[in-house]
Amino acid sequence: MQVSVITLFPEMFDALSDAGISGRAIKQGLLSLATVNPRDFTEDRHHSVDDRPYGGGPGMVMTVGPLSQAIDSAKTNMNVPGKPSPKVVYMSPQGKRLDQQVINELAQQDSLIVLCGRYEGIDERLIDAEVDQELSLGDYVISGGELAAMVLLDAMIRQLPDALGDSESASQDSFASRPLLDCPHYSRPEDIAGRVVPSVLLSGDHEAIRRWRLRQSLIRTRDRRPDLFAKLQLSDEECKLLDE
Ligand code: SAH
Repeated sequence: MQVSVITLFPEMFDALSDAGISGRAIKQGLLSLATVNPRDFTEDRHHSVDDRPYGGGPGMVMTVGPLSQAIDSAKTNMNVPGKPSPKVVYMSPQGKRLDQQVINELAQQDSLIVLCGRYEGIDERLIDAEVDQELSLGDYVISGGELAAMVLLDAMIRQLPDALGDSESASQDSFASRPLLDCPHYSRPEDIAGRVVPSVLLSGDHEAIRRWRLRQSLIRTRDRRPDLFAKLQLSDEECKLLDE
């Protein structure tokens, strides 16, 4: 998968390419991550990428010219003959809220361009002309699209085949195939000042452990996220586990 991020702060993406699961996936070439800086496409002395808003008011707006050239450059660099042009997403508090389903769909793409805003945002005409989808982290405002883009990319990378080692299976995670929260996890030691690991996990009885974990997931989802629980189609076994 090829990803180009349009950003005024390319160095922020070192956090993604240097560390952990995302770093390993990028080093293995499961995902190629490039950044394009709109500032490289400015012609004035100050390399301006923003200007005052028409109509007045506080803050600055990212202008169309440098962004549009940065997107063109990303498209040219990613161009694979015969493949469709990459989808362009803009990280924005006004977009569709990110969830596992949105992430899984995007992880199927061969290529993606992710646009990060700064200041008051981007001139609306660039969004109209270039952006296929706006995506939000949630109902709050952060200072720039970079952290949002990194959340999106990290979550997508986890879904790429071979990105996780055997011991890190994404299929066990919350939301993996259904809106179900993960079960609680424990490791050594067995006893921490009287707080002990549930005995079933020490039993070696794999079927009992599976049932216990499933029951915990169901109870957690019901108690913590009634909104998700309402969407769950429960199997006969799951109904019985909840009744126990
Ligand atoms: N004036 C804008 C906010 C601008 S914040 C508004 O009220 O809608 C600057 C940039 O940060 C945005 O262009 C966007 O790229 C990013 N951003 C801020 N909050 C975000 C969120 N919740 N999700 C994704 N991106 C966000």
